[in-house]
Formats: sequence, structure tokens, C-alpha cells
Amino acid sequence: MLSWDDEVTPAAQPAPAPAPRHVSGMDLQQRLQTQEVALNPALVSKPVTVSSEDLARRVNAADKRIINGQTDVNQLVPFKYKWAWDKYLAGCANHWMPQEINMQRDIELWKNPNGLTEDERRLVKRNLGFFVTADSLAANNIVLGTYRHITAPECRQYLLRQAFEEAIHTHAYQYIVESLGLDEGEIFNAYNEIESIRDKDQFLIPFIDVLTNPEFKTGTTEADQTLLKSLIVFACLMEGLFFYVGFTQILALGRQNKMMGAAEQYQYILRDESMHCNFGIDLINTIKMENPHLWTPAFRDEIKSLFLRAVELEYRYAEDTMPRGVLGLNAPMFKGYLRFIANRRAQQIGLEALFPQEENPFPWMSEMIDLKKERNFFETRVIEYQTGGALNWE
Ligand code: FE
Repeated sequence: MLSWDDEVTPAAQPAPAPAPRHVSGMDLQQRLQTQEVALNPALVSKPVTVSSEDLARRVNAADKRIINGQTDVNQLVPFKYKWAWDKYLAGCANHWMPQEINMQRDIELWKNPNGLTEDERRLVKRNLGFFVTADSLAANNIVLGTYRHITAPECRQYLLRQAFEEAIHTHAYQYIVESLGLDEGEIFNAYNEIESIRDKDQFLIPFIDVLTNPEFKTGTTEADQTLLKSLIVFACLMEGLFFYVGFTQILALGRQNKMMGAAEQYQYILRDESMHCNFGIDLINTIKMENPHLWTPAFRDEIKSLFLRAVELEYRYAEDTMPRGVLGLNAPMFKGYLRFIANRRAQQIGLEALFPQEENPFPWMSEMIDLKKERNFFETRVIEYQTGGALNWE
């Protein structure tokens, strides 16, 4: 038997390299023609026959299911979940990269001892302290957890785009940390070391761990409810609630002409995240429609208590990042805002409002999400990434 050693033995003489030969265009054409002639003519004219078994195996859109589907996950079409494909296209139309945004004015402001107050600096650092690891948690949850349990290829296609957007967001936060020259160890470890951030992440991690556990399989009512619960926590409470104190804070800085580069990045991130949240809600509602037996009164009560706990944790984070009033904002204003958002999320998945009659104290936030309407909000430079699709806040 010929082994690798036989081939590299020093005794073996390498064959002399053939002398380079110029190949003219004419030579090449002749060779191609010869090859064409050499083709098996029977093969060229052989009709494609598809057996009735093969035909029966073809994907029928009506048979597709979001979870526990039996159709081939490699076949994107025929489409059934057009909403997922449309969101994939809209996500691509919104593509952006962090380094396209100029950070020079932020750097000057941050380095100027009188540029920002101590409270504003604390707010920026605690804010980044949550976000620098949050999108990695989100990406890992999608790639290692959610993705393999979703059997609709249209939804998988969106999740692939979403996973890349989470990477862009982590890149954006890293770019801000690096631009400002912040202590990386301090910021990237905040989710271990700062209680208000750690508590939010510890609330989320069990819902991620259950999906990434290789033993976990859907197919029973209990397992399917576990998956649905994780999807709700992730879309409605993580991307749909835990991001909003932080987004509002940095965008409020931008509205006061401070940290405008960072604020512009957050604006793009917010637009992506609102799409992630809307996709998640469509996913949840379609699973509910296809599997109504999962939506029991006991399950709904469990979800409501998770919503209440998440509002409490996010409010504590608001207090910790703003121990005093800053930028015309203070923690109590966020209590109303979080309740308003929690109501909206609950209603989006078919639950009643948890805190009836809350009003939005920051109506400008919904305008922030639609860059088409509110183009170049911070008057830095115009970047119109939107080339198709549409964004809806609600
Ligand atoms: Fe996200």
C-alpha cells in the first residue's frame, strides 16, 4: 500500500516538469471542439424522467411547518412563509457596517475633560457594558439553539441574516469601545461584574441554554412549549424590551448633539432590532396558529409572570445607569416607558395589556426607527441604506 511516507521518500525522483508551452486561442478552441465531439450524444439527448415516487417526494408548500415539519429544509421554495422571506429581503436592503460611521467628534468629546458629565460617562459605560455581550448572546442563541429547531427554510434564511446582523452589532459596540479608548476588560466583563447587567443576562441564559442543549428535541407538548417560551423571552423580552433603556439613552445623547457617531450606530442597530423583534413575533404567532394546543391558560400565566420579571429587571438597570437625572431623563420616566413597551409586546403575541393605560413618554423613539422618514437625524452625514422593503414600528 502506498503511504504518505512512500511519496515523500528522498530517494524518489520528482518527474521533470513539462516545458511550458504557449497555448494559442486557436489551439484552445480546437481542443474544446474535440471535447464537444467526444461527448456521449446519447447522454445529451437523454430525456429527464422523474418517477412518481420522486414527484411525490417534492415539497408541497402546504405541508411546511415552522416546528416539527417533515419537509426538506434545504428547499427554500415553494414559499409558504412569505413574511419571513420579505423580512430577509428588507434586512439585506438595510445593510450597513460600523466603520462607515465617523467617530471623530465622539472621540474629541470623550477625551475633553469638560465634554461630558460624570453621569453621562457612567451612562455610556454601563450602556456599552450591557450591549457588548448582549448581541453575542443573541447570535449564539440563534446559531446554536433556535436555528436547528425551526423547520421552515424561509425562517432559517431570515435567521441566517439575523445572525450576521448580531455580529455587525457586536462589531459596532467594539468599534465604539476601541474608538473612545475605553477599558476593554471593564466593559466586556460588565455582564459578570455589574449586578444590574448580570441579573438581566442571568434571567435570559436558562432560556438560551435549554435550546442549545444537544439533548433537547421538539415534538412533545412540553418540549414545544419550552421552545415557544424561549422564543417569546428572546423576541419580546430581550430584543423587544431589554434593549430599549439602552437605545433610548444613547439616542437621547445624540438628540443633544453628544456622541453623535455612537448615536448614529445605535440608530441603525435599533432599526435592525425592531425587525428582529417583529420577525420573532410573527414566528411566535405562526407557531401558535399551527399548534393551538400549546397556548394553554397555565402557559399564558407563566409568560405573563416572565414579562413582569423582565420589566422589573430592566427598570433596575435604568436606575443603575441613571442614579440621578441625566440628559433630561430619569429612571422613573423609564418605568412608564417599559410598561408601555411590555403592553405592546404582550398584545402583539395575543395577551392582554399587563399595565393598562400606559402612555409612551418618549414618542420620538418610534420616529427614530424609521430612517426613511427621519433621514439623517443627527445631521452627521446622509446614509440611505434602505433600497427596498419597509420598516414598521408596530
Ligand atoms: Fe437582534
